Amino acid sequence: MSRRSTRLEEKRRTTGVDPYEVIIQQLGYEENLDGEPKLYESDSVSSDDEIFRRPKKRSKQSNEDQGAKGTKDKSASQRIRGRRGILQKVKEMPLDILFETFSYLEPLDILHLARTSHDLRDLLMSRSSSSVWRNARRNIVGIPPLPFDMDEPQYANLAFDSYCHICMQPRCENILWQFRTRCCRNCITTSLVSVSDLVGVWRTTYARTFSVFELVKDYVPYMSVTPWQGPWGGEDRVYYPPVVKRFRREFKAIEKDQEKLDAWVKEKREQYKGLMEHVEQCSSWSKSRHEERKAEFEEVRRRRKEQIVKKLSDIGWAGELQHIPDLVFSQHKLVHQAKELTEKGWKSISGPLLAYLAEHKESRLDNQQITQTSPVPE
Ligand SMILES: [Zn+2]
Repeated sequence: MSRRSTRLEEKRRTTGVDPYEVIIQQLGYEENLDGEPKLYESDSVSSDDEIFRRPKKRSKQSNEDQGAKGTKDKSASQRIRGRRGILQKVKEMPLDILFETFSYLEPLDILHLARTSHDLRDLLMSRSSSSVWRNARRNIVGIPPLPFDMDEPQYANLAFDSYCHICMQPRCENILWQFRTRCCRNCITTSLVSVSDLVGVWRTTYARTFSVFELVKDYVPYMSVTPWQGPWGGEDRVYYPPVVKRFRREFKAIEKDQEKLDAWVKEKREQYKGLMEHVEQCSSWSKSRHEERKAEFEEVRRRRKEQIVKKLSDIGWAGELQHIPDLVFSQHKLVHQAKELTEKGWKSISGPLLAYLAEHKESRLDNQQITQTSPVPE
């Protein structure tokens, strides 16, 4: 038994999951022996469907909780009514004014707007709104240009909306640019496949189109991984089956025409080069954007701490603050927040902070007393 099949058997036995089945599910259904597909799942996922799948909600309240918070519910429903009122006004606005207003927004704002109502979705996803998306993208400093294989809403969704495209969990900053997807750490291990597994499935399940893999294998985007990490049996390249599936679909449309096939392989080679250059640009843009945002958050935290210290000093606590190491006070959960301090915010945190300072003072004085009264060692 080969090393690979032993590993697959082991995985099948320990997890009850057949890795080949998982890949086949992502690639589409098996073919009959005569090479024709038994059944295809829909090959075309429109950009709309991808973009308008909604990320999971951050938290769910139980019915009892909701009942207990009747007043909150009331204000929430008022808010929704208010929002609907605004949307109604948006619908009634002349288009040129609406577009002028949109031109100050960023791509994520436009995405959110497009998800708020059917009317706005239809408007923003129509061809006549392409300038809205383009202008929004231009409001983002340094973002690489729109790539050849995506439209503006798809690009905005990938670059700015931070949810995992596989499991839909809401916080996912991991963008796999080469696969045009966001993927959390859990989904990486379940959704990406090693080249051995991919070739294995291809040889057995998609034998008739195996030649496509040989023809363009150098132009299929992959991700490098650390060989000893992850479930890929020591291999250092992993693939994303939906991307491979697109190659196979394109190949099937032209495989009988040698001329078209040659042109297609050439096109794939050029596209791959362009794609990888764009991936490179996006990764470095995203990294520097991340650094900038981190610095901005740091600045907000610094300002917040300064304002809190001033407010506490104004009411006579400057002396006690001197006794708390700066690092400890900065890390206090009510201080260490990337949130500007408002009067309302101060009202809600001042009580717990004063209690914290009073407690600190009390235990400091107790300690002082113990030190003063303890006998001097001989
Ligand atoms: Zn996920």
